[in-house]
Amino acid sequence: MKVYVSFWLPEAPLNVLRAKHTVVINEKATLPTPDELVAHLSDADAMLCVGSKVDKYVLDHVGPKLKIIANWGVGYNNIDADYAAQKGIMVTNTPDVLTETTADLSWAILMAVARRVVEADAHVRAGKFQGFAPFTMLGADVWGKTIGIVGFGRIGQAVGKRALGFGMKVLYHNRKRLAPETELALSATYADIDTLVRESDFVSLHVPLLDETRHLIDARRLSQMKPSAFLVNVSRGPVVDETALLEALVQKKIAGAALDVFEKEPAVTPGLLELPNVVLTPHIGSGSWETRTNMAHVSVKNLLAALDGKTPPNLVNKPVAR
Ligand code: NAP
Repeated sequence: MKVYVSFWLPEAPLNVLRAKHTVVINEKATLPTPDELVAHLSDADAMLCVGSKVDKYVLDHVGPKLKIIANWGVGYNNIDADYAAQKGIMVTNTPDVLTETTADLSWAILMAVARRVVEADAHVRAGKFQGFAPFTMLGADVWGKTIGIVGFGRIGQAVGKRALGFGMKVLYHNRKRLAPETELALSATYADIDTLVRESDFVSLHVPLLDETRHLIDARRLSQMKPSAFLVNVSRGPVVDETALLEALVQKKIAGAALDVFEKEPAVTPGLLELPNVVLTPHIGSGSWETRTNMAHVSVKNLLAALDGKTPPNLVNKPVAR
């Protein structure tokens, strides 16, 4: 059967696919355009989706053989999974394998913005380090502070566990409160979102992108944050109103922000680029070689299961029979 892979992946998982199926890979250095995608999917049985947007237009034009779109990533807001289900197409994701790596990156950029690591690095490289000075490049303490985690699922909880090592108080917000024994085990306290943003020194976002999480952090919530607090976003860009964030930073309503994802990715709201108290990374939350290779293995496993007529382990939609 024909499998279309929309961007280059490491050889080991690709070879697992090649052993059973005909694999066609997008060889360009950029993602395929919607029309290129449609052309490749016209006779494909499966798609391994690496960062591509699969919307209604694409789904209306794919060929009748397409059984599965195996997303390479846990967040699958790039695929219209409900519409795919109506067309009888399975959609899968890659949970768990990227949890710890993404939590690590969340901490890397949290620490970087609080302790001004990027600014300090630039300072040294620019030859400005003239010897120890007691009040140069001072930042904010992380240890002992309060972190508020919005979206306390797999990644949010992994971020929370790390916070305990820094002696921090952990607040969390989900739509559904966790069982008391889980809260106890994670030393985490439930808070409604307004209380969480008001009381946290670091607000860390780990929700999926859904209609209800779009602009979850808007001008109102930013103005509720402490002027000394930092916002960390390693979820999805549109969870934050980036224009309101820029405004809050310029007006010093919050102390800083660390962003791995952007509202109109890959574009970044221009004013953010000029601010020293903002750390920016290019959507590398799960970006270690080990994890990104493991994600590909999980996508391949899902895809092979579907082509074998089985239910893939990480199915996220309910396709109608066809
Ligand atoms: P997860 O285990 O499903 O956790 C998501 C959490 O968000 C759940 O606890 C859920 O709890 C909560 N949630 C959902 N809707 C909410 C709402 N409206 N308000 C408050 N909480 C809400 O997912 P995960 O594996 O941790 O991944 C989380 C997200 O991280 C992914 O969807 C992806 O977009 C992003 N991510 C980014 C990167 C990167 O490279 N930057 C890497 C990996 C993942 P309730 O259902 O009880 O509300």
